[in-house]
Amino acid sequence: MILLFIKQIILNISFLFCKLRNRFYIFFNINRIIILTLHEIPNNNFQDLKNTLNHLKLKHGFISPTDLENFFLGKKMNFGIKYLLTFDDGLISNYLFAKNVLSELSISSIFFIPVKFIMLKSKNDQMDFILKNFCDGNQNSIYYNSIKKKHSMSWDNLAELINDGHTIGSHSFNHPNIKQIESEEKLKLEIVKSSDFLNDKLDVKINHFSFPTGTFKAINYKSYLMAQKHYSFIYSNIRGMNSINNKILWRDDIHAFDNSDYNLKVSLGSYHLFYFFKRLRMKLSLKLYV
Ligand SMILES: [Zn+2]
Repeated sequence: MILLFIKQIILNISFLFCKLRNRFYIFFNINRIIILTLHEIPNNNFQDLKNTLNHLKLKHGFISPTDLENFFLGKKMNFGIKYLLTFDDGLISNYLFAKNVLSELSISSIFFIPVKFIMLKSKNDQMDFILKNFCDGNQNSIYYNSIKKKHSMSWDNLAELINDGHTIGSHSFNHPNIKQIESEEKLKLEIVKSSDFLNDKLDVKINHFSFPTGTFKAINYKSYLMAQKHYSFIYSNIRGMNSINNKILWRDDIHAFDNSDYNLKVSLGSYHLFYFFKRLRMKLSLKLYV
């Protein structure tokens, strides 16, 4: 109880700090992008999440994946702080949320797909995949309990999302811990061939790759180098703001089932300060010194 109270106070102080920081970037027209990551979105959380995204849209605005590409190509933009929305894991709720909510808010997002999950035809196989590959076999995890009876999007759903102006990225083939893979062939399947499957099936070039889990424990220099040769944009799941100098992109995870007020604070960057050393550690391990 006391610990929770202290956590709340720290979060609120950090929230005030990040509000000041955000105002500074906006006042001096310094471009920074905050990338949000979502996973499963239960039906009954659609409205709350819509309110949070709408608030961010009115306050700062969202850019599309194409805007992000142009920004990194050096196209002149003065926007202060903007948001980009991404989804990991290819769950059907992501498609439904895009059709019902994102279309109304006119937000274009990136959907990161673990390819094998989409390829599995039977629901039982998909449920096995969810337990083994998303949740490390842990039946007690919060994530497992929120998705254990769910299933993936179909290829047709993905094609429809592309038609609606969204972008598809690779989230590996099997959703493994990539850092633990030693075989070159297996590494290639996860990083390079995963995008070939998407490309063949959907007839679009895949420029974006998000590492499964996306923390320091799941990314190493070898896998980063392979991803860097193959993709224009590589995403972690470490919190932080992005500038044009980022070689690996930071993302802020938000959970649809958390309350709107908390999600808003997290989305505005309240945890960024606490992730300074995680970002530094990741950059050093990937030999990125900028
Ligand atoms: Zn994932």
